[in-house]
Amino acid sequence: MTPSLESDANTMLIGVVGGGQLGRMIALAGIPLGYRFRFLDPSTDCPAAAVGEVLCGAYDDEVALGRLTEGAMAATYEFENVPARAARYLDRHTRLAPPAHSLAVAQDRIAEKDFFRECGVPVQKYRAVGTEEELDAAIRDVGVPGVLKTRRLGYDGKGQVVIREGSSAAAAWASLAHVPCIYEAFVPFEREVSIVATRGRGGSFVAHPLIRNVHREGILRVSIAPDPDANHALRRAAEGYVRAIAEQLNHVGTLAVEFFVTREGLVANEMAPRVHNSGHWTIEGAVTSQFENHVRAVAGLPLGSADVRGAAAMVNLIGTVPDVHELLDVPGAHVHLYGKEPKPGRKLGHVTVVARDHDELMPCVERLRELAGEVVQPATASELG
Ligand code: AMP
Repeated sequence: MTPSLESDANTMLIGVVGGGQLGRMIALAGIPLGYRFRFLDPSTDCPAAAVGEVLCGAYDDEVALGRLTEGAMAATYEFENVPARAARYLDRHTRLAPPAHSLAVAQDRIAEKDFFRECGVPVQKYRAVGTEEELDAAIRDVGVPGVLKTRRLGYDGKGQVVIREGSSAAAAWASLAHVPCIYEAFVPFEREVSIVATRGRGGSFVAHPLIRNVHREGILRVSIAPDPDANHALRRAAEGYVRAIAEQLNHVGTLAVEFFVTREGLVANEMAPRVHNSGHWTIEGAVTSQFENHVRAVAGLPLGSADVRGAAAMVNLIGTVPDVHELLDVPGAHVHLYGKEPKPGRKLGHVTVVARDHDELMPCVERLRELAGEVVQPATASELG
């Protein structure tokens, strides 16, 4: 029998698939609301171990999934590559939020782009690639430059390669081990933005303001909220798109959609059916964080305001953790460390900075980028990137 969502001490337990930093921050937001958390992760010393019980096991181990959901009022996940089998199991045995359908769409780049189109969300030209002939045809149809990406299991720019001329196609596909791919047009974007929103169990919906993101080597480095260059029309368009996506999915929980801003408007890149790195600033920078609203949605509680308090930014700490004293010397800064072993390219923590407005915010962001080992020149938010 599926447990009820009533607030009874025995049912105040939420099972989470994955025990990384996102799971840790979900628990840190849910504990003040009275919830306890149990995580399923292949590693016992994962970041979430500091904030709840960790069951060590594979994500598709049904015995482990059974233990995860035992006595739990609901289950959620902190990454989108949850195996379909595990999602089906959780759907049958507990209240899974976000639903398995949100996962299925986000796990396959072709299904995702098809779905965006069905929702009326603009996407660039793309084609599915399963053979060398299909890749040649896709390049003829979509043109060059383009990006060849694995349909599944890509993240932080991994599993993708830019194709600048047809003659390099075979080598590009070989570098991705000939797995099923998407070939999509390279988008000459002005900047990258995302929107993080939450949909509640009864269909309520809140969206944080549009976020400006800076990536390097496919990895998110900095987020600024609100995007200083977004006009009313762009903000309205992004919010309308994420709302349409959330509603069509019947999504419950937080989700994020990443866009390219082009001269013609927004082009959707991808979605994440979960809390998102570009929304980490919401912990201190928004009236209600993406993590708290996610827990509220999973638990069937009313959602909180997603408004920003002034202006906020997040700088990721990647590969190494700078001196914490220096980071905290920056006015308005808050440090979040995930308790992970340093490794090149690994996200070890982030720093949020909150200020009255962008003018006050940007010098702090520049200083944090410098401390985080980021290459910094620009003085204003518009020049970032
Ligand atoms: P993704 O893993 O799809 O989020 O891609 C990682 C990063 O690569 C994006 O944030 C962009 O900076 C860049 N990128 C991915 N796809 C494209 C594209 N079609 N055109 C231009 N840049 C892209």
